[in-house]
Formats: sequence, structure tokens, C-alpha cells
Amino acid sequence: MRSWRPANYGPLSADAGMTTDTGARLPEGAPIADEIREGVADDVAAFTAAQGHAPCLAVVVCGRSAPSMVYLDRILKASAAVGIEGRLVDVPGDDPVTQAEELAAAVRMLSADDQVAGIIAQMPVPAGISIRTVIDAIDPAKDIDGIHPLNAGLLRLGFEGFVPATAHAALEMLERSGAPIVGAEAVVIGRSPVVGMPVAFMLAKAGATTTVCHSKTLDLAAHTRAADIVVVAAGRPGLVTGDMLKPGAVVIDVGINVVDGHLVGDVDFASAREVASAITPVPGGVGPLTNALLLAHLVRAAQRQAAARGSPAGNVPPATGPASATGPASATRPASNA
Ligand code: NAD
Repeated sequence: MRSWRPANYGPLSADAGMTTDTGARLPEGAPIADEIREGVADDVAAFTAAQGHAPCLAVVVCGRSAPSMVYLDRILKASAAVGIEGRLVDVPGDDPVTQAEELAAAVRMLSADDQVAGIIAQMPVPAGISIRTVIDAIDPAKDIDGIHPLNAGLLRLGFEGFVPATAHAALEMLERSGAPIVGAEAVVIGRSPVVGMPVAFMLAKAGATTTVCHSKTLDLAAHTRAADIVVVAAGRPGLVTGDMLKPGAVVIDVGINVVDGHLVGDVDFASAREVASAITPVPGGVGPLTNALLLAHLVRAAQRQAAARGSPAGNVPPATGPASATGPASATRPASNA
């Protein structure tokens, strides 16, 4: 099942980006991300030549001291490296009511701007401001990180739409690991709207029998021990240990935690690698792929919007096929969930 793969950026061999040692295979995100970025750079160059301007990604922050600024800066740098124009929109202020109004106005303005292809906003939004401020103002066609209810609903219904880049990266790592998905028992730990739930919907769509575990799950190990695939997105270092895994399981660790100054995932890597057949390392696994896929989503959004504006067909690569990052316009029928 390739429906979540960005068109034109695959396929790779199942071994791509994989290191092997005495324990589990350790699928690396960076080589796959490099390959995706190369494809994006080619598409950006073609788009820019045809349209006379580069596709533009708008990044909205509420004050540059926001904790997510490091992540957003990294995305802007990665955008520039592939020829995408980055536009940082800062909505400073210390009164949540005024700042929320200005944030909504900024996102509405970017949504209406034909030069802007995609919009992402600082997450979480500052205390006292509802995330609805952003999702009510963002054009779903520019919602390249899949936070708008329309895109979330399209995913739920089996239509193509924008999916959150992190969830997309988790699925991409899983597919590239070569693990069979159809008929597999999959456990997703975490039920957030940006990672856990979208991963679960994608896994179910891809044919896995999918269980979602979360903070109220009574016996987590009972579920994980029966799973061929375990995707962990809880933000709890050491949550999954080797004795909680079925021998040969494939483990996708989405967690990012800082412990004693070091980045670690949610999986106890040392014990898990003795039992799993493959486990994504942290850092270096899912993380690098997330940014590359966000750029892939951006270029798809730009192509779709140009096509919708009636650009000559030859100027815009066809927006059909198995692209995951395509906008909702292509979908006329939900995929069969039979
Ligand atoms: P979140 O806090 O919104 O959700 C965490 C989920 O984990 C919740 O659904 C909760 O029920 C569940 N959970 C918490 N403790 C648990 C426990 N003891 N047992 C079972 N389930 C438990 O977090 P999120 O935004 O979904 O992010 C999850 C992790 O992924 C975090 O570590 C975050 O830093 C990381 N993340 C990584 C990337 C990336 O690019 N790799 C991007 C976004 C988030």
C-alpha cells in the first residue's frame, strides 16, 4: 500500500537508509529525507520556472521566543535549501485576547494570499489562545501539516488530504523498513490528533489490525507483546522496554525527550534492539523525515493551487497518482475500507 508515499520521490529499495548491526536493524531517516528533499528541489525548480515565483511557506509564530522557534527556524532553513521561499510572520504581544485576534487575522491574510502555498503555525499556541484560532482561519488547501478538521476528516474517511508530517514520517519509516503491514497486528501508543490518531488511521487504511493505547490503557505490555508493529508517540522516555515486545517486532519510535541533556525516544533502545527486528533510533529516525515530508507537502500544495488557478497544464506536474500530500480536491470517492 503506497497511498501515503509522496509521488515522484520513491520507490526506494526496502534496505535504503538502513544500518545493520548485531541486534535489530536501525532504519535511518536522514538518507530517506535526503532523497525526498532532492525530489522536492526538482519540483520546486520546475514550479518556479513555470510560475515565475518560488512556492512560499508561511510560518506564523507568536513571538520569536516561542519554544518551537528552533524547530520552525530549522524548517525555514530547510525550505531555503530546496528553493522554497520562507515567510516568517511574527504576532507578538502579551495580551492573549488581542494576540488571538491578530493571530487569526494573520492566518486569514496568508490564506487569502495567492503567493503563499502553505501555512504552519507555532504549536502549541501560547497559553490563553485556543488552537481553534488557527484552524478556523487556515485555508485547508494550505494546511500542509494536516491540522484543519477538513483534512483530519478526509483522513478519517479514507480520502486523500494533508496528513500531519510526523504521522506521515512514521508511516514512511515503517513502509521503508519493509515490514509487512497488511494483516499485521499494530499497536499505536498515543492518541494525540497530530501523531497517534493519524498514524492509527493510516495503519488501519493500510491493512493492519490496529489498536490505540494511551495513558488510560490498563495493561500496555499485554497489547505490545501481541504486536508485529509498535508505533510509540507518548513523550515518555523508557515507556517501552524489550520485555514488552514480541520477538521480531518492528518498532517506530516517534518520541522526542531530553534526558540528562541527551535526546532519547520513548523506547528503551538498549533492551528493545535485542528483541525487535527493526527499531528507529532517536535521534536520527523519524525526526529527519518529518521536515522533509513537510516540504513535500508544501510543493504539492503549491502545484495544486497553481493548477486550480488554471495555470497551463504543462506548467504543473500532474496532481494525480499515489501522492499522500495532495490536497482534498482530487478525492471524489473514499478509499474502500473493506
Ligand atoms: P501528546 O502529549 O499530545 O500525546 C501523548 C499521548 O501519549 C497521549 O495520547 C497520551 O494518552 C499518551 N500517553 C502518555 N503517557 C502514556 C503512558 N504512560 N502509556 C500510554 N500512553 C501514554 O504528544 P504528541 O504531540 O502526540 O507527541 C508524542 C511524542 O512525539 C512526543 O515525545 C513528541 O515530542 C514527539 N514528536 C515527535 C515529532 C517528530 O518529528 N519525531 C513530532 C511531533 C512530536
